[in-house]
Amino acid sequence: MSQNKPDIAPPPLKNDCFALPPGVNWTPVDEALALLQERLRPVTRIESVPVSRALGRILTVDAIAKRSNPPLPNSAVDGYGFAGGFPEGSHVLPLAEGRAAAGVPFEGTVPAGQALRVLTGAALPEGVDTVILEEDVTVEQGHIAFRGPLRQGANTRKAGEDVAAGDVILPAGRRLTPADLALLSAVGLAGVQVRTPLRVAVLSTGDELVEPGQEAGPGQIFDANRPMLLAVAERLGFEAIDMGRVADERELLRDRLNQAAARADVILTSGGASAGDEDHVSALLREAGAMQEWRIALKPGRPLALGVWNGTPVFGLPGNPVAAMVCTLIFARPAMGLLAGEGWSAPQGFDLPAAFEKRKKPGRREYLRARVRDGRVEVFHSEGSGRISGLSWAEGLAEIEDGERHIRPGDPVRFIPYASFGL
Ligand code: AMP
Ligand code: MG
Repeated sequence: MSQNKPDIAPPPLKNDCFALPPGVNWTPVDEALALLQERLRPVTRIESVPVSRALGRILTVDAIAKRSNPPLPNSAVDGYGFAGGFPEGSHVLPLAEGRAAAGVPFEGTVPAGQALRVLTGAALPEGVDTVILEEDVTVEQGHIAFRGPLRQGANTRKAGEDVAAGDVILPAGRRLTPADLALLSAVGLAGVQVRTPLRVAVLSTGDELVEPGQEAGPGQIFDANRPMLLAVAERLGFEAIDMGRVADERELLRDRLNQAAARADVILTSGGASAGDEDHVSALLREAGAMQEWRIALKPGRPLALGVWNGTPVFGLPGNPVAAMVCTLIFARPAMGLLAGEGWSAPQGFDLPAAFEKRKKPGRREYLRARVRDGRVEVFHSEGSGRISGLSWAEGLAEIEDGERHIRPGDPVRFIPYASFGL
């Protein structure tokens, strides 16, 4: 052993690199979310589009039914229609001439005590308020025979029983689903007033990054965050704008942020968001005087650099892909929803029995990569935030509340599927 080395003690061992620094106030997740919800407003424009092109768009005003659904009382089945119900016992009715079909109404009046052939969706003719299923009827010699009891109004739909003209069918702020397009069409709306899609610029930072497909030298890694974040933006119904990669060079990054701000409504960066020498995203935002370092009591997650660049909000996400994804889903997603004109949307979670054991200290919320098998929540075998394979293995996140917990197999745990985040 060499005798001439100085006797310097290494720093005290940290066995939890996410330990909360003493004396620093870490913001609870819910407080951070409440702040976003309170401060953000829609930034997108308003336009009119035909219903056929409105999927995923956000309504700017309540949609009001122009017409009732159904517009007229009609038959819910193929069968025979007549007036009134019938008591127990067997009944025989003469068949009137003609029939009523969907789109081809019966023009006359069905005489009392007679029946008419009616098909599903046919408007009920004058003199018909009740329908019997064709399977429950014998037809012979111009008559039908069936067994009661049959309630008056059976197998019919009332006008407006689904939606009445003038009803609010979908509220402003609603992101339109395929089912919504059916509803809008059914009540006579051919076009809707919606917001233009939020333009989301995505940009990766780091000297170590190379493009997949390029030669990667030792110490270099492929840019994994950019394709992920662009895809998230696209899945959420936004216009994803690829702003490429930038090395850890302040002037290059400044230029790129200028370009992104000119083209987009919001900028997502990854990497360089902490307070280190090469953390230029936070440095530039700080220099612009519009930087908030968000130290959120959350695992996985380094500080988030939230700021405004030339008037455009910037989410400075952590570089670690797992942390970048979790921070995007938990914070950037609802925030972008508000900017896009959607109401604030909390993801729908489900309480299911755990298939794992975990002890957790109080003071921060944790999100684990998780999936459901046989009705139980499984978590990925490693919590390492560089483990991209776990993000891919998972089908959602298990949310473990801020307080202390000892989860044992079978205990309820909150599972939020990726689909609940809109992925
Ligand atoms: P940073 O937040 O810049 O300190 O980066 C944290 C970690 O995430 C480092 O190990 C980076 O190499 C890694 N990282 C940063 N950006 C990306 C990216 N776009 N794709 C994959 N890993 C990244
Ligand atoms: Mg970096």
